[in-house]
Amino acid sequence: MKIVVASGKGGTGKTTVATNLAMAAGRAQLIDLDVEEPNDALFIKPEYTGEKTVNMLVPVVDQEKCTNCGICAQVCEFNAIAVLGNKTMTFHELCHGCGLCAYACPEKAITEVPHPLGLIRYGKAGQIDFVEGVLNIGEPMATPLIRETKKEAKGELIIMDAPPGTSCPVIESIHGSDFCILVTEPTPFGLWDLKLAVGVVRDLKVPFGVVINRYGIGDNGVEKYCEEEGIEILTKIPMDRSIAEAYSKGVPIIEALPEMRGVFEGILERIKEIVR
Ligand code: SF4
Ligand code: SF4
Repeated sequence: MKIVVASGKGGTGKTTVATNLAMAAGRAQLIDLDVEEPNDALFIKPEYTGEKTVNMLVPVVDQEKCTNCGICAQVCEFNAIAVLGNKTMTFHELCHGCGLCAYACPEKAITEVPHPLGLIRYGKAGQIDFVEGVLNIGEPMATPLIRETKKEAKGELIIMDAPPGTSCPVIESIHGSDFCILVTEPTPFGLWDLKLAVGVVRDLKVPFGVVINRYGIGDNGVEKYCEEEGIEILTKIPMDRSIAEAYSKGVPIIEALPEMRGVFEGILERIKEIVR
């Protein structure tokens, strides 16, 4: 079973939920897909066992062969290649590595070369098999790295920590999972972003439920919205000074407050019932 933990915005407690779920599960694979800022490792403290570089193929134009016909620029959906005067230029930061320009070029003037996106790292923390994607600094293309990192999923229970927001990397992270946990906080901002995230998971037809983190800091808008929309609230994690202190020290909640283990075990049990 693949469970993805997502949130409409950063800083809601997504990492807290993902890491504590993996620790409560007994045996699980935890995959950090928040490749621009992977920080699950800060909490589960894995022993790293290996890594590999992930490349994306990007086009390079042989200006000698190129006739500046512009076909490559016409087929590129992402404006990543353009004919400027008598030069055909490529923009790797916009390229999605689809290969269409090379396929379409009548002069066979385009070759595809590997462009490093980042790393996939592997590790072990107790019974957790850990995988994380790490995007190179300054590299804008998170989605292809997330796609490659997801391919490492294996085992009976896989918990994936998605990037925050509702853009392409998040959609790639949620796509194909069995269940999505949307983590939010009980504030007007939390509610706004939750509504956007609900739109995404509904479009993707992935079953989902909500975890309200820092319960008690704001209003009851999130609860009211979930009730009106028939969305299950899986749990409410209270605003608690000891939880905040544990987080600031990189200590998982269930280590700092062992009585919270049951909360995360309960989430997993409930998801199993829903997905069954
Ligand atoms: S399709 Fe080929 S020949 Fe035409 S502009 Fe692009 S690279 Fe040059
Ligand atoms: S590989 Fe795809 S995205 Fe990249 S420049 Fe070519 S057509 Fe555009």
